[in-house]
Amino acid sequence: MNIHEYQAKELLAKFGVGVPAGHAALTVEEAVEAAKKLPGPLYVVKAQIHAGGRGKGKFKELGPDAKGGVRLAKTLDDVKQDAEDMLGNTLVTVQTGDAGKQVNRLYVTDGVDIAEEYYLSMLVDRATGRVALIVSTEGGMDIEEVAHSTPEKITTITIDPAEGFMPHHGRAVAFALNLDGELNKQAQKLSKQLYEAFMALDCEMLEINPLVETKDGNLLVLDTKMSFDGNALFRHPDVAALRDETEEDPAEVEASEYDLAYIKLDGNIGCMVNGAGLAMATMDIIKLNGAFPANFLDVGGGATTEKVTAAFKIILSDPAVEGILVNIFGGIMKCDIIADGIVAAAKEVNLSVPLVVRLEGTNVEKGKEILANSGLPIVPADDLGDAAKKIVAQVKEAA
Ligand code: ADP
Ligand code: MG
Repeated sequence: MNIHEYQAKELLAKFGVGVPAGHAALTVEEAVEAAKKLPGPLYVVKAQIHAGGRGKGKFKELGPDAKGGVRLAKTLDDVKQDAEDMLGNTLVTVQTGDAGKQVNRLYVTDGVDIAEEYYLSMLVDRATGRVALIVSTEGGMDIEEVAHSTPEKITTITIDPAEGFMPHHGRAVAFALNLDGELNKQAQKLSKQLYEAFMALDCEMLEINPLVETKDGNLLVLDTKMSFDGNALFRHPDVAALRDETEEDPAEVEASEYDLAYIKLDGNIGCMVNGAGLAMATMDIIKLNGAFPANFLDVGGGATTEKVTAAFKIILSDPAVEGILVNIFGGIMKCDIIADGIVAAAKEVNLSVPLVVRLEGTNVEKGKEILANSGLPIVPADDLGDAAKKIVAQVKEAA
């Protein structure tokens, strides 16, 4: 789960991390009030969306010469103008895709006199089973580009969670950033605080870009992105409460309400499968047959009629779907119950695209009979290969 920059900064501040003062705003009036509470003379108005690259982003409604989603404002009138420009409009950045994201919240924050911009991030590195702390002197820009063209400017420090954050980790961060004296000490302290926050909050990723050195010699977190391990959210109700569903794919939000694992993909064949392994095999075999899956969808072990209906609706809400492949193994669930669910769901949603169903497992004959007698144009399949061939052929025929 991702959260907004201002929320992440509020969380980090509780761990002692230095962030510029700022306030969130939902309206133009609130943005001006937020600025009044800051000392000035420089304010920064920042669009709050779950995507980076806002500074260089463009608003769809404002034309190519308008400023982006991070703006320096010198007066309260400028703050007002920037808030009017941003709220309700669509910001397109390198991370949003062409559709962009509507800006519904702003963060009005202190303008900082920047001397240097650095990069620092932490993530769970699956390869080593440890936390990787990544630092670079090349902050503020696209870190993928830095990694590609000047990889020597990126330092990775690995922290063993059993050992925890040791003083040498902090010294390595300060050294990699080339910092002396007071700043060197600050970097050691800051990286320790960030690690503590990362562990305490069960983060998946914490990125600070840029981490800045101010002209008066302080290290401050100027921009941050934070994401959390969804499986650990139950331990952090305060973090879970920060979820902003307007930033997420509506179909994925609906799927999570029914406890379905759903991820939208780019293809045209909707898949409804139980078990993640079977779902992946199904997607692979669709590709082997020359088509592409429109989604990953795992209905789980105990697929009820209600769940199957919700799954059908979610798949069909994607206009790209031209056919559906149901591939279910009846282990704990019996095939006849699943068949009942499929028939009921197909009737309820007024199925408008070809549907191929492959059932296997307990009571499979009974299940097939139910499908055959349903009066619906359901195409039965015998095995995975057969199922994939049939749905790809059906979709081609219908096109
Ligand atoms: P994004 O990464 O989404 O473009 P950032 O918050 O990193 O957004 O802002 C982009 C750039 O704007 C920063 O690299 C920095 O140079 C400048 N900036 C952002 N916040 C401030 C601030 N509070 N004071 C001064 N400059 C800022
Ligand atoms: Mg940034």
